[in-house]
Amino acid sequence: MKKILAITNQKGGVGKTTTSVNLAASLAATRQRVLLIDLDPQGNATMGSGIDKRTVVRSIYHVLLGEANMSQARVHSASGKFDVVPANRELAGAEIELVDVEHRERCLKDALATVEAEYDYILIDCPPSLNLLTVNALCAAQAVLIPMQCEYYALEGLSDLVQTVKKVREHMNPELEIEGLLRTMYDPRSTLSQQVSAQLQQHFGDKVYRTVIPRNVRLAEAPSHGVPVLELDKASKGAKAYLALAGEMLNRAAAIQ
Ligand code: ATP
Ligand code: MG
Repeated sequence: MKKILAITNQKGGVGKTTTSVNLAASLAATRQRVLLIDLDPQGNATMGSGIDKRTVVRSIYHVLLGEANMSQARVHSASGKFDVVPANRELAGAEIELVDVEHRERCLKDALATVEAEYDYILIDCPPSLNLLTVNALCAAQAVLIPMQCEYYALEGLSDLVQTVKKVREHMNPELEIEGLLRTMYDPRSTLSQQVSAQLQQHFGDKVYRTVIPRNVRLAEAPSHGVPVLELDKASKGAKAYLALAGEMLNRAAAIQ
C-alpha cells in the first residue's frame, strides 16, 4: 500500500489544498490515522484545517532546517480529526537556507521516518511550482496524487509533471509512482471537460480516479470557517465526493493486497 502521497501539480489553483484537507478528513472519518504536511508557504492547508498559521510556533520550516522534529511541530486538527504539520510564510525562506545543506532534497524524507509508523496515510500538500520544496515532497513520497482541472492547457502541464516524476524516479526515489489523477471542479455538462477527460483516460487508463470532484460552493466556503467540508455540510456534493474518493483509494489498496 502506498501511504505517503504528494498532492502535487505545478499549476496553481487546481484544487491541491482542497483535496489535501478534505481527503485527510475523509480518510480520518473512515478511521484511518492521517498526517497532513503543509509544504506551501501560503499555509492554506494549515488554515483550512483550523490552525492559525500566524500563531504557529514550530512549523514544517523548522523541521526541514533541523530546528524541530516532527513530533514537536505537529498539531491536531480537531475539526478534521487528523494531525497537521503547519506552514506559514517563513517556509518561503527554506529554499535559500537549505542551499548549503547536504542532501537538501531529502530533509522531509528523513524527518518523516521518525513518525511514519504512527499513520496509515501521510498527505503532503505541495506548492504550485517545481521547486526544492516540491522535490522534497517527491523524494519523501511513495506516490503522487495529481488534482487537475479538465481545461485546454491541463494536459500540457501534466506532461511536464510526468517528466519531473520520471527524473526523480531515476535520480532520487526509484519507488515513486503515480497514484492517481483526480478531476477537480468538474462540470459534466462542459464538452471541453468531456474531451479532456477522454484524453486523460486514453493516456493514463485506470490511474484516473473514477470519482470526480464537482464544482461545489461548500468546498470553497469551508476554508473560511477553518473546517473540512465534512464538518461544514456533510450532505453537500463536495463532502460526498471526497468521501467517495477516500473509499475508492481504500478499495484500490485492498485490491492490491
Ligand atoms: P495553489 O496552487 O494556490 O496552492 P491549489 O491547487 O491548492 O492552489 P485550492 O486552493 O485547493 O487549489 O483551490 C483553488 C480555489 O478553488 C480555492 O478558492 C478553492 O476554495 C476553490 N476550489 C477548489 N476546489 C473546488 C471545488 N471542487 N468547487 C469549488 N471551488 C473549489
Ligand atoms: Mg494550495
